[in-house]
Amino acid sequence: MTDIVIGNGWILTPDGLVRGEVAIEDGIITNIGEKISANRVIDARNGIVMPGLVNAHTHLGMTLLRGYADDVPLERWLNEYIWPVEAKLDEIDVYAGTLLGCLEMIRSGTTTFADMYIRMDGAARAVETSGLRASLSYGMIGDESRAERELKTGKEFVKKWNNAANGRITTMYGPHAPNTCSPEFLTRVRECSDRDGVSIHIHLAETEAEINEMKSKHGMCSVRLLDKIGFLGPDVLAAHCVWLSPEDIKILKKNDVKVAHNPTSNMKLGSGIAPVPELLKGGIVVALGTDGCASNNDLDMFEEMRMATLLHKVHKLDPTVISAREALEMATINGARALGIDAGVIAVGKKADIIIVDTNKPHLTPKHDLISHLVYCAKGSDVSTSIVDGKILMENYELTMLDEMKIMADAEKVARDLISRVA
Ligand SMILES: [Zn+2]
Repeated sequence: MTDIVIGNGWILTPDGLVRGEVAIEDGIITNIGEKISANRVIDARNGIVMPGLVNAHTHLGMTLLRGYADDVPLERWLNEYIWPVEAKLDEIDVYAGTLLGCLEMIRSGTTTFADMYIRMDGAARAVETSGLRASLSYGMIGDESRAERELKTGKEFVKKWNNAANGRITTMYGPHAPNTCSPEFLTRVRECSDRDGVSIHIHLAETEAEINEMKSKHGMCSVRLLDKIGFLGPDVLAAHCVWLSPEDIKILKKNDVKVAHNPTSNMKLGSGIAPVPELLKGGIVVALGTDGCASNNDLDMFEEMRMATLLHKVHKLDPTVISAREALEMATINGARALGIDAGVIAVGKKADIIIVDTNKPHLTPKHDLISHLVYCAKGSDVSTSIVDGKILMENYELTMLDEMKIMADAEKVARDLISRVA
C-alpha cells in the first residue's frame, strides 16, 4: 500500500507545473498523476509540490555565531572572531548549532545539505535526530604539523558515519582549501577518497588573496595546481570558485568538477563575483549554497536563489543572465548531482525529498508565473510541508519530529556559554 499521497497541488516536474497527485512508498516516488489510495493523504491545496532544496555548501555549527561578527574585514573576521571561538567549540556546541540549522532548514524548504566543519560527530548526531539528508565532511587543515592527525580524524569520520541513519547521512573528505593544505596532503586525500569511494568537499578560489598566495608559493593558481597533482575529478565539490580564469573553467569542465556557488557569502565577505554564467555556459554543474551562518546570515535557499539571479544580472548589466528556471535547477537537481544523490526532481523512482510551498500569500498573488514566483517572491517561511526520505518532517507548518522551542533555547544557551569561554 502506498504510504503517502500528496494531492490537489501544482507539481513542479522537469516539464513544468502539472496538476495531479504524487505517491510515495518506502521513501521513493512511485507514481505521479493518477488517483491512488494511501495510508496518508496530504492536501496540497494552493501549494506547489516541488523537490526539496539542496544547500550544497554550509557549516551548520556556525549558526551559533549568527550576528556575532559582521561588517569587519575578512582577515580580522577570521583571526579575531571566528577562529578563537572555533578553537573552543566542543561536540555539544556543534550538536546544538547543527540542530538549530536543521530546524531552520526544515522550516525553509531545504531537505539536503553538504556540510564541512569540526567536531563532526556532533553534526552527524544532529542530522540523525533531525530527519534531514546530508553529506558531511570533517574540515581538515593539512599543513605539515597537523597533517597526520587531521587525516586520521577525517578517515575515522568517514568510516563511522558513511551511509548512517538509513543512508540519509553520507560523508565526504573535507580538505579545507588549497592554501591551507599542502599539495602532498591533498594527494593523500585523493588516495583516501578513491580507496573509500567517497567524494571530496573543498573551498576553491574563494578570494584573490588565496590565488596570490598560491602563485607565490607554488608558481600557479589553485585550479592549475589541483589539476597538476591529479586531485580534480567528477567527485569533487568545489565551493565558491570566485577567482577563475577562462583556462581554469576549461580545467574544471575537463575534470567534471561540481561547483557550489554562494552568492550571499561572497557579497557579505566582499570576496568577489563568481563567473557563474560562464560556468553554466561551459556545461559545468553549478549548485547553490548559503555558506555558514556567520557569513550570510541565514540558511534560506529561496533567498539564495534570488541572490544568484540578481547578482549576475547587475554584474553583467544584462537581465537575461541566470533565469528563474536556471536558479531553481541550481538549488534542486544540480545540488543533488553535486552531492551524488538520486533526488532533486519530482519523478518516479527518485528519492521522496519533497516540499510544499504555500502560495496563498499576498506576495505570491496573482499567479501569472509560479516558477518566477518561487525565485523572485517566495520565502523560506512559505514552505508549509517538508518530506525527507518519505518521512514527514513538517506538515502544514507543524513540526512532527523536533521540539522547536527547546532547540532554540539550547542553542541560545550554548552560544552564550561559548562566547563567555572565549572572552
Ligand atoms: Zn565555506
